[in-house]
Amino acid sequence: MEKIAVIGLGNMGLPMSSNLIESGYTVYGSDLNADAEASFQQAGGAIGASIPSLGQNCDVIITSLPSTDAVESIFLGDEGLVRNSHPNTVLIDTSTVTPETNSKIEKAAKKNGIDYLASPVSGGVVGALNRTLTFMIGGPREAYEKALPVLDTLGENVVHISEKIESGTVTKLINNLLIGFYTAGVSEALNLAKQSDLDLDQLFTILNVSYGQSRIYERNYKSFIASDQYEPGFSLKLLNKDLRFALDLAEKKELDLPISKALFSMYEEVEKNGFGEKDMSVLYRKISEQTPSLLSGKEMME
Ligand code: NAD
Repeated sequence: MEKIAVIGLGNMGLPMSSNLIESGYTVYGSDLNADAEASFQQAGGAIGASIPSLGQNCDVIITSLPSTDAVESIFLGDEGLVRNSHPNTVLIDTSTVTPETNSKIEKAAKKNGIDYLASPVSGGVVGALNRTLTFMIGGPREAYEKALPVLDTLGENVVHISEKIESGTVTKLINNLLIGFYTAGVSEALNLAKQSDLDLDQLFTILNVSYGQSRIYERNYKSFIASDQYEPGFSLKLLNKDLRFALDLAEKKELDLPISKALFSMYEEVEKNGFGEKDMSVLYRKISEQTPSLLSGKEMME
């Protein structure tokens, strides 16, 4: 049975690695956070190996990291995966990073004769727990075929988008731009409903069979808004990261996306107000602070 390493044992990496352990793989893990490593160890994983020794001894290495800086240091640093991996190892980055980061790593990996796939995922923590993730993969088809049996144990849709390294990332950024739209739409619409004295549970039931339904409405309402708890999930700061990457991409294509820009500045404001670590659906909480009484109070003051 193959040896697998997972680097980054957070909201996504931990359930993915637990599922690999359950499937019978020997799984090594690494995270800067000792609590995350302890949870992984409790699930049956092995900790304590350095990044170079993971690179030398594992067949497949999956990373799930929160930023381009973290990804670039794990892949491209002196002690990183690209310089220190065995030529038979397949490196798979499931983090959402920029297309430029994908290209930089691809260039270095090719130079060192290492297989590297840029494979962001969608489906959220629920998908990571239930093995229903979608993998959007850019990179060499041969490496994809080598990694497929492992990725098939983690997801329902393991799709090779193309050999262009950034093709999965661009697909993922389009997905997350839409997530940003839907989350904002759900937040404003539900606030209007609440301020109009509608029963939000009944509204959900009715819209569930109407065109106003969306997977994001279901996710955000059922798992967060209905119970007024916002532990992630998918943190607002990670969504903001992806919206920024999508806007950067638009700028490179010389496209103006005015609605997306307005959305981004709204999320940025909520992050600045200290809600970045909360699930993205916390936008509803922020929007619902704008009550009719506050508005009329403001008007009275003017
Ligand atoms: P997270 O913040 O919960 O987990 C990231 C983990 O990486 C943390 O445990 C952190 O300690 C660790 N880490 C940071 N730097 C490290 C380093 N240099 N070495 C080792 N460990 C390091 O984030 P997450 O929600 O699990 O997301 C991970 C990635 O997956 C992100 O790129 C995100 O955009 C993407 N993603 C998340 C979701 C979601 O629903 N949460 C869905 C799809 C994609």
